[in-house]
Amino acid sequence: MGKVLEVKDLVTTFRIGKKEYEVLRGISFDINENETVCMVGESGCGKSVTTLSIMDLLPNNGRVVSGSIKLNGQELTTMSPKERNALRGKRMGMIFQEPMTALNPLLTIGRQLTEGLRLHKGLSKEEAWKVAVTYLEKVGIANPEDRMKQYPFQLSGGLRQRIMIAMVMAVEPSLLIADEPTTALDVTIQKQVLVLLNKLKKDVSTGVLFITHDLGVVAEIADRVIILYSGRKVEEGSIETIFAKPLHPYTVGLMKAVPNVDEDDFDIQPIPGTFPNITEDIGGCRFHPRCPYATERCRTEVPAELEIEPGHTVCCHKVEEERGK
Ligand code: SF4
Repeated sequence: MGKVLEVKDLVTTFRIGKKEYEVLRGISFDINENETVCMVGESGCGKSVTTLSIMDLLPNNGRVVSGSIKLNGQELTTMSPKERNALRGKRMGMIFQEPMTALNPLLTIGRQLTEGLRLHKGLSKEEAWKVAVTYLEKVGIANPEDRMKQYPFQLSGGLRQRIMIAMVMAVEPSLLIADEPTTALDVTIQKQVLVLLNKLKKDVSTGVLFITHDLGVVAEIADRVIILYSGRKVEEGSIETIFAKPLHPYTVGLMKAVPNVDEDDFDIQPIPGTFPNITEDIGGCRFHPRCPYATERCRTEVPAELEIEPGHTVCCHKVEEERGK
């Protein structure tokens, strides 16, 4: 499996007033072909900022300060905005929570689908129409020829999301970023969209970065999971490892905060304390004000990334000390 995306020591800052604050504090991870990596964490942990840094879509007050982002081995951070723009839609696609963010309300579905294919794949109008219809069929849309003639406002939220997926996947990108794509959908449609994304990923061998705060969705779709907390990766592992033997106190807390419906276990234990604001100056491990195991070392020293076994890493002094590393 080749690496589609390699992110190394990524630091992104946001300017608020006269000061600049680190929102991503040196994040590293990879995504392989035909692999779905779920990035999980509470609102404000840096999930969406990671995707916007990769796509070069940060707001005016945000910037990548240091680190490397490689797509198929090609460094993105040193490219011009024009070059980055050319990659978007062609080799990197993005699906948002609300498809209307990306769909043009004034153009028919057919025009929007074929324009991307003509621009990025160099197809003729007729060829693009045929491919677009095929992809609408692939995403389970009945009467695709009729849908092509409709405008986004004439379709339900679930249909719009399917069309968005068809539009992104039809150009067969190396990397697909899906930012909470199912959050606004009802549970049945949500399940259908996840199955669809999984199938298309395999058809096209795309690497998928899937952003969510919903561990139920993670269980459905992830091959690997990255847990973020306040701009840092705190744990990474396979789906089996993260669900069966989480080690970081924050990951353990997240798991306890979800009811186990299968075993009728509704004993939810929310993580105490509140999530820190990016402007808060917290030394050492940023989880320490909420961690029941915090020591003096945790308050002053940032924990290093520790490899527990191949593919499973944790950043925690307690784990390090228990393992005598
Ligand atoms: Fe808790 Fe310390 Fe580990 Fe941070 S480093 S998670 S504060 S034990």
